[in-house]
Amino acid sequence: MTDEILRVALDTPLRRTFDYLPADNAPAVVAGQRVRVPFGRREKIGFIVSTESHSELEISKLKRISSYIDDQPTFDTALLTLLRWAADYYHHPLGEVIATAVPKLVREGAPLQERSFVWTLTAAGRAALEAGEPKRARQQRALLEHLGSDQAGIFEEALADWPRWRDHARSLRERDWVMRQERAPSAQTEEVAAANLEPTPAPTPDQQAALDTVIASGDTGYRAWLLQGITGSGKTEVYLRLAERQLRAGRRVLILVPEIGLTPQLVGRFAKRFAGIPLAVLHSGLTDTQRLEAWRRTHDGSARLVLGTRSAVFAPIPDLGLIVVDEEHDASFKQQEGGFRYSARDLALVRAQQLDIPIVLGSATPSLESLHNVSLGRYQRLSLPRRAANAQPPTLRLIDLRAEHVHAGLSTTAATTIEKHLANQGQVLVYINRRGYAPTLACTACGWVAPCLSCDARLTVYRQASRLRCHHCGADRELPRQCPQCGYAVKTVGQGTERIEESLAETFAGVGIARLDRDVVRRQDELEAVVSRIASGEARILVGTQMIAKGHDFPDVTLVVVLNADQGLFSTDFRAAERLAQTVIQVAGRAGRGDRRGEVLIQTEYPEHPLLRGLLDGGYEAFATAALAEREAAAWPPFARLAALRASALQADWATEFLAAARRAAPKANVRLLGPAPAAMAKRAGRFHAQLLVESADRTALHRFLDRWVPAVEALPEVRRVRWALDVDPLELF
Ligand code: ADP
Ligand code: ZN
Ligand code: ZN
Repeated sequence: MTDEILRVALDTPLRRTFDYLPADNAPAVVAGQRVRVPFGRREKIGFIVSTESHSELEISKLKRISSYIDDQPTFDTALLTLLRWAADYYHHPLGEVIATAVPKLVREGAPLQERSFVWTLTAAGRAALEAGEPKRARQQRALLEHLGSDQAGIFEEALADWPRWRDHARSLRERDWVMRQERAPSAQTEEVAAANLEPTPAPTPDQQAALDTVIASGDTGYRAWLLQGITGSGKTEVYLRLAERQLRAGRRVLILVPEIGLTPQLVGRFAKRFAGIPLAVLHSGLTDTQRLEAWRRTHDGSARLVLGTRSAVFAPIPDLGLIVVDEEHDASFKQQEGGFRYSARDLALVRAQQLDIPIVLGSATPSLESLHNVSLGRYQRLSLPRRAANAQPPTLRLIDLRAEHVHAGLSTTAATTIEKHLANQGQVLVYINRRGYAPTLACTACGWVAPCLSCDARLTVYRQASRLRCHHCGADRELPRQCPQCGYAVKTVGQGTERIEESLAETFAGVGIARLDRDVVRRQDELEAVVSRIASGEARILVGTQMIAKGHDFPDVTLVVVLNADQGLFSTDFRAAERLAQTVIQVAGRAGRGDRRGEVLIQTEYPEHPLLRGLLDGGYEAFATAALAEREAAAWPPFARLAALRASALQADWATEFLAAARRAAPKANVRLLGPAPAAMAKRAGRFHAQLLVESADRTALHRFLDRWVPAVEALPEVRRVRWALDVDPLELF
């Protein structure tokens, strides 16, 4: 027998896999299988990624695998191919990539399958039940009745509270009246149609045209569609119908959404349309056990529809037929922290390509990357230019803050317009991109402003709680009454959501006001509480950060006020304008989704700014065309490829010295190196941050460079003093 070598990925920062020999008396081994292996003095859990006939190490030096944890693989070969692709593309160790892809409890050895048992009656048991048996054993009789009360049987877990049920069940089983069976994964294609509880609206002509185009190109085969539909145009209806086709054909569907906490309505719509179709929801708000449970239901195929945030792109879904990425422009699809920084949207496209299945990216405000891919012919565009359900798009107007009386952030025009809409029974959304009471606390005499001691940032004032807090490191202090420097009075400068809520309450006494931001909403139920205050009409004004822009469909909102659009106009980040345009259009899209036409007011000190003018005159489309031309002229993405080497250290010099050494270690290649430069906010939570950018017109050249460079960077002596990460296709440049 030739010794087979098993290559194992382990969750270590080492950029390599490890070779082992099969365990003694080994069963057949396949890639994707979970194993326990000796590693140093301990044992570690890893995943077999391939079987090999050669090792770079001597066979006699190789250790044996201790044990196989499962008799089936954790990943099928298709998913393993995606994980390998991600490790290569993001230049990250495969072991850590795999660790990102599976729930913590699976990494720690939890069984892949939850074995669940149901107790049902046999034919003899039914007869016994009807005959009133067993006549004397009252408790056995009661259990028999209970087990017979549901045709499908009773789950063992549901019997836990039944006194001494195991004893009674054993007696019943000895008489062949009941059986214990393992629950089988459900296979229920027929139920798709039967389960639909909601009346399905007939598609609008635009929706029908989009559906016809997708359907004409086939239910299988790779195709990337960009569904560009204005807010309220009914993109979700298109996803629902495409999903339904796949479910009917017995295939499964993956829907990726930006932040599930912010889109309960979308989950609700899928759950309602496909009631009875098993659905799994995977997001960051789950406990470890909940995540394991949802993951298992995707892994064993019982979930037919998987809805999830970023990391759900790695969900193990057999017979996947369609991927949908809703709000594809959203930054939360990009993992921007930690070691493995990936784009779930981009990986979803790779996954669709590898599986040879269609993918739909949907947005009212597509990323410039995606629009560029449309013009290159890589994606096909589907347009929904009109609102469904007869609603008119809102009218947009700029308010010149320099020409108006402004009280606590609100111009006179905005205040009188709010009053008018409230009088007409409309609801109002007020958007401001700052939480807290005020962004600054300053001295009226000496010019002191409250700084964070750990960050290059100011502390935010929380007046109700009487605290000063840092939004970057979490520092939290007592709100001082006087200037700590000179003892004079202090005052708050600027506005946050809390202050706007307060001043609206003064101006519109008696009107219900709700607030939505990350300080109010830390949990799912808190979000639902705020949303239901608006939905019920109890609250008439909603103040909030970009959280109010996402996914909600409040039909009675007729006015949206954007308090300050100016922060994004003059940023150093080349993507700031794109983000501002997307936010303005998305927030504006909340207005007038019902029968009444909506109105949008945007307060600004720069009403002549070309970005704002462009958005107003030509909409997102015109903005995007102009912005793409600018990117091309400046050779920024999508017209160039970027990677950022980021570092942080306890001393400012260490981060830049490491990056300078990395720059010196760079092999000659057709790339441009920019930096090192300190981050715009260099000090954060006591660490100093800096970055070095790598730019190339050519993706292949960039990746060939990274292949050679990353190992050299890792070997630098300076590496010990820093934390570093490579960010391929970075979204934010600080
Ligand atoms: P989007 O996701 O594009 O912003 P939605 O899918 O939320 O839009 O649809 C907006 C509203 O229009 C929803 O209330 C939805 O129920 C309704 N709608 C969508 N499609 C239709 C249709 N074909 N007929 C009637 N109403 C529709
Ligand atoms: Zn002072
Ligand atoms: Zn801080």
